[in-house]
Amino acid sequence: MFESVDVLGVAFAKFNMRETVAYITGRCASGQGTFVVTANPEIVMYAKDHPDYAGLIKRHADLVTADGIGIIKGAQMLGTPLPERVTGYDLLHELLGVANDNSQRVYLLGAKADVNAMAVAKVQEQYPNVRIVGAHDGYFSADAAIMQDIISAKPDFVFAALGFPRQEQFLAGLQPSLPKAVLMGVGGSFDVLAGTAKRAPVWMQNAHLEWFYRLLKQPSRIGRMMVLPKFLVEVRKSKQK
Ligand code: UDP
Repeated sequence: MFESVDVLGVAFAKFNMRETVAYITGRCASGQGTFVVTANPEIVMYAKDHPDYAGLIKRHADLVTADGIGIIKGAQMLGTPLPERVTGYDLLHELLGVANDNSQRVYLLGAKADVNAMAVAKVQEQYPNVRIVGAHDGYFSADAAIMQDIISAKPDFVFAALGFPRQEQFLAGLQPSLPKAVLMGVGGSFDVLAGTAKRAPVWMQNAHLEWFYRLLKQPSRIGRMMVLPKFLVEVRKSKQK
């Protein structure tokens, strides 16, 4: 097992990126799959208000990583710091690197059809040894048919870009049928990979201003972003308890 840090009921692994990748590949080597949840403050707040989702993470996730500076700040406020951000997008690239080194099988599920196709092309270009054994957009209604398609593709990695909580719910349903695979929800990562959404410039990422860049690009996200201050208030309250 590993040490974890509790932030509003979600248990984050006390791992930096290197340790996260080593943990996942170590489990793979011993024939164990890994269900990874990369959780940001929005996910933590949603879990706080939705016991079903919180329960799903508790029961199914083998590893929860700190997706963004908000979680790092929260853990710091609680006096139980986490080593660094392990974002979904960065971890996706790390794991694609692993899959490339081992010529492993990858399934890309989610995003709009054209974005999904572009993400497939990008992965193939950047990770030529990755075997893409299947891909499907994220706008489907019959889960069972897509699940069957994924199971019969026998992937080592399933990356699901359906947005939360849907991606975690879907992957939890898939988990019993793919006990040796790495399953991870990656939110809007395919949009970034495809180039339809850009990541902030490196200096902004380093200054922990990625959230601000996203807000400038998509002002409609303001509602979603207001969750961050609320999250920090809740963390402070939870410390006082
Ligand atoms: N999406 C999808 N099916 C849906 C709803 C959303 O495939 O029914 C995709 C959407 O196209 C986008 C991703 O899920 O690629 C969610 O992106 P968002 O930026 O909301 O994710 P975040 O990382 O903020 O959770």
